[in-house]
Amino acid sequence: MTDSPTSLGSPDSPTRVLVLNSGSSSLKYQLLDMADASRLAVGLVERIGEADPRLVHTPRSGGKRERTGGFADHAAALAAVSEELAADGLGLDSPALAAFGHRVVHGGSRFGEPVVVDDGVEAEIERLVPLAPLHNPANLTGIRTARELRPDLPQVAVFDTAFHRTMPEYAARYAIDVATADEHLIRRYGFHGTSHAYVSRKCAALLGKDPADVNVIVLHLGNGASASAVAGGRCVDTSMGMTPLEGLVMGTRSGDIDPAVPLHLQRAAGMSVDETDELLNKRSGLTGLCGDNDMREILRRSDAGDQRARLAFDVYIHRLKKYIGAYAAVLGRVDAVAFTAGVGENAAAVREAAVAGLEPLGLSVDPERNTVRSDEPRIISQDGARVVVAVVPTDEELEIAQQTFALVGTENVRKNEIRTPLS
Ligand code: ADP
Repeated sequence: MTDSPTSLGSPDSPTRVLVLNSGSSSLKYQLLDMADASRLAVGLVERIGEADPRLVHTPRSGGKRERTGGFADHAAALAAVSEELAADGLGLDSPALAAFGHRVVHGGSRFGEPVVVDDGVEAEIERLVPLAPLHNPANLTGIRTARELRPDLPQVAVFDTAFHRTMPEYAARYAIDVATADEHLIRRYGFHGTSHAYVSRKCAALLGKDPADVNVIVLHLGNGASASAVAGGRCVDTSMGMTPLEGLVMGTRSGDIDPAVPLHLQRAAGMSVDETDELLNKRSGLTGLCGDNDMREILRRSDAGDQRARLAFDVYIHRLKKYIGAYAAVLGRVDAVAFTAGVGENAAAVREAAVAGLEPLGLSVDPERNTVRSDEPRIISQDGARVVVAVVPTDEELEIAQQTFALVGTENVRKNEIRTPLS
């Protein structure tokens, strides 16, 4: 039906990648053209298999379209996505489609790179389900559905954990009994890897340097939040651990906590394992501290004198500062600190507070530059600062598409410098 990946160099070679992020009842998608890194369509199917499912589709030309009903499962949802794309002349049966790129949350110790999915890869993703019980099964459903729709096309799995696979063992190991840890696959894996990879590379480009020559601390501050220390383009430490619960204070997750606290809650408060899990993942973090997980609302309340919101902000910032300091120590030399994701890209007050007092580490922001609003990567420290502080908007879908395309592409494609717009 379509050209094989080895014939990608021809003028008619396929350059489109459909990025799929499959949740248990949702399917997010973006169709990208890697010839110029443009987005041809984006959309979301939600509440799949539930009473009132809905598809929202937006082609590049604009004009958002909605459909409701009829999505009993992911296969039906993907079929509907295919119809919507076909209506824009972008059907999934088009020879222009080079591959599917699937976001997969957990790649365990096995996957440090994206891979073309075959039965063995599927089985391995399945084997890792105990480490990501909510996400990996949903990601697998997306992969299987797409493989059924286009068995002839490469289906590439891009793992959230992969970028962190380069961490040295002393950073990845927890200091617990080694045999127990190994038997249960317990170690630091880290998440948000596509974002940390994309942002650290973009940050190097912003500095006009090769990623291999730059040490950067990436602060991905969304509803989930994580920090990473990236030395010469390779992750050497990251704040999320075996699961995304560890590290920074997040919207609803506690981040770092004494491991005895959940034990105490189970013993002293009679909480079950599931209740403890729910407390730490859903009712903690900013929500637990002040009832809101949205930084906009916390800043508004705090400005209005709300003490709980102020405390939540202070706890959030204190943790962030500790990680900046820790990763400065891990890296030795820091060239840049990059803020990204919803909070990092938009909340000037968070950026200002996070580096306040860190002048001895070479860190400060220029108040005017910090408050400029833009979708572009930008430097917010003063010219000549020892450490560049930057805002670098993340783009996980583009990173997945790029990694997918790089894997299925040929030397010809690379010679044509199709990747240039993304560097
Ligand atoms: P997710 O982890 O869900 O992908 P995002 O990266 O989209 O999250 O970040 C969402 C969060 O970004 C919101 O919960 C909100 O706290 C924060 N946010 C978005 N816009 C702003 C803003 N203008 N000011 C402060 N915080 C913002």
